[in-house]
Amino acid sequence: MVATIGVLALQGAFTRHQATLERLGCQTVAVRYPRDLERLDGLVIPGGESGTISRQLDSSGLRQPIITFAGEKPVLGTCAGLIIMSRESAGSQVQGLDLLDLDVVRNGWGRQAHSFTSSLPVTLNGHSEELPAIFIRAPRITRVGQGVEVLAAIDGEPVLVRQGRHLGATFHPELTADTRIHQLFLRAVEE
Ligand code: GLN
Repeated sequence: MVATIGVLALQGAFTRHQATLERLGCQTVAVRYPRDLERLDGLVIPGGESGTISRQLDSSGLRQPIITFAGEKPVLGTCAGLIIMSRESAGSQVQGLDLLDLDVVRNGWGRQAHSFTSSLPVTLNGHSEELPAIFIRAPRITRVGQGVEVLAAIDGEPVLVRQGRHLGATFHPELTADTRIHQLFLRAVEE
């Protein structure tokens, strides 16, 4: 089966996700309208500016259709996409989709714009592997609920989480050549 994966294309870094998914053999759809969700096997919510994405979820009419979609199919959120998948972030303009039970602080690492680690230990297939991770004005996860599995952390702070079929990363797996996070997401799509 060739999976068809939507990438929310209201704003932000969606083309790199499409390129990675296509490299892994998927068909991709740039999602801008509710009808674009039809026939998708999974959805990626990319990085960008979470306040803008949150407003555009309402103006596009996509908010409720995505919540309904996520009741059946997997969603991967990266950076701003993870913020959008949470409930709300303190003192911000973002209204989240409440797909991940966690609290986040936007730009939680202060003024630091970019950082890179080449050795993020991640639990992928029941054992730990190291992968490269790029953080860009990343959110900080300050609380995870009981149903949330932490797959990677830096200094004890979660940076990759899974809740049921959904995955969230505070970093940008689409900006490196490493495809393991997308592969992990595609495994949930196949199940
Ligand atoms: N700082 C952005 C926000 O709060 C997220 C940055 C990103 O997605 N790279 O929305």
